[in-house]
Amino acid sequence: MYLDAMADFDRVFFLLADGARCDILDDLFRAGDMPNLARWIERGTNARAVSVFPSVTLAAYVPFVTGLFPGTANIPGLRWFDRATYASRRFSVAKFRNYYGFGSYLANRDLRAGVETLFERVRPSVNIYSGVCRGAGLRTNKAYFIRVPIIAHFHRTGDWEPIDRRADAYLDHAIKSRARAIFYAAMAIDEYSHIHGSDGKRAIDAYRAIDARLGRIIRALKNAGTFDQTLFVLSADHGHRPVTRHFDTEAFVEARGLKTLYYPKAARRYFRADAAALVAGNASGHIYLRHRTHGWSHPLSDGEVNAGEPGMISDLLANEAIEFVITRAEGGGALIRSHRGLARAFEGGGAFHYVVVDSDPFGFAPMPSRLSAEDALARTWATPYPDAIVQTAQLFRSPRTGDIVLSSTLGHDLRARFERHEMKSGHGSLREEHIRVPLLSNACFPAGPIRTADVYPTMLDLLGETPPDNLDGISRVVSPQQRSQRTTAA
Ligand SMILES: [Zn+2]
Repeated sequence: MYLDAMADFDRVFFLLADGARCDILDDLFRAGDMPNLARWIERGTNARAVSVFPSVTLAAYVPFVTGLFPGTANIPGLRWFDRATYASRRFSVAKFRNYYGFGSYLANRDLRAGVETLFERVRPSVNIYSGVCRGAGLRTNKAYFIRVPIIAHFHRTGDWEPIDRRADAYLDHAIKSRARAIFYAAMAIDEYSHIHGSDGKRAIDAYRAIDARLGRIIRALKNAGTFDQTLFVLSADHGHRPVTRHFDTEAFVEARGLKTLYYPKAARRYFRADAAALVAGNASGHIYLRHRTHGWSHPLSDGEVNAGEPGMISDLLANEAIEFVITRAEGGGALIRSHRGLARAFEGGGAFHYVVVDSDPFGFAPMPSRLSAEDALARTWATPYPDAIVQTAQLFRSPRTGDIVLSSTLGHDLRARFERHEMKSGHGSLREEHIRVPLLSNACFPAGPIRTADVYPTMLDLLGETPPDNLDGISRVVSPQQRSQRTTAA
């Protein structure tokens, strides 16, 4: 039943179905509405993976092309503020960022130095519509340069079809080429979900359009004679759930008398901001606060936030839109508060540590205070907050992470003004509905707990490349021994 893990894959086709919900994909599968996908993965994997926090576009693409979490890669969200650069440089493109729009062209530059991407590792490679693609050459990366203008066109016309048509041409060309890695980000589900609802007809049609596109791709691979040697993986950066109420984070911060930087009016606070409120998804957000004495010189700890803005954390928590308020713990890691309680998640001695201070904010069953990354995933996998210990701790590896990080309550988001269209659906939080994603492949990934950061090293392994050391993800290739155990157990 199991494909030979070391089967001779010599190229990989990765499809990132941006914003694809596990439950909707399951329903379509059961209804026989995804016939091409079903056939391609028949002897492989139809499973779940856990994405990263914040579960937002681009930041959650990073694990698929680097094997790293957003905190490690220093891309801690779709929008961020860099306090060190803001303090030290009068003019710089790196003071703050919004990847939605032209800012996405700076994502490759923003990746932490020394990070190697799929496109640098597996050559030649082709990128179609991903904003994170360092190493994909100019010649093979045409779609990258048109992705922002075409998304702007979509917002004027409301029609994604011309973008998919262009993708067909790029895909045909890539499949006929010698490319060993083809990375295709299909963004229609996410865009339609935000505007029309994630269970609305336009979004559902976008899932079906992916299947039709897969039919074309399979034919093209067969014509090119490379179908059997092509590793196929489909996954997503985040889920999506309906939103009916909008909390105005920007207004909340401004109401405290702080000159606040936020999009789309960031230029107004290019100098002399007291605070920054950068929400995305829109179920997650970073709030940054200037220290009264030390300015923007260092990130604030939980104690400094409380001293500088007394009552701010409890005021945020008192709002029903906000489920978690997360701050930087003294001594490192995250302090996580919810109405249920308070805990600290941090790293040390090659392990994660989770210390409940005042009843568990996630409602987890009691667990050991010291956990391996594997154990922390396994123990939280089946809860409403999968991998929340590791995901909150990893975010504070990045100096660009907020002094306060928000994760919203399901049904609410954190931005009430400034969107071109009211958001009918959203993502970004620690909730399973946002962070659990489909993982489908013609190869056999092991059943059970797995992260999207594991996909990259696993793909490398299946292509016969040695995954780099020090990734957040690990290769999940099933060894011949494990495979025989599973076959025996079955
Ligand atoms: Zn997305």
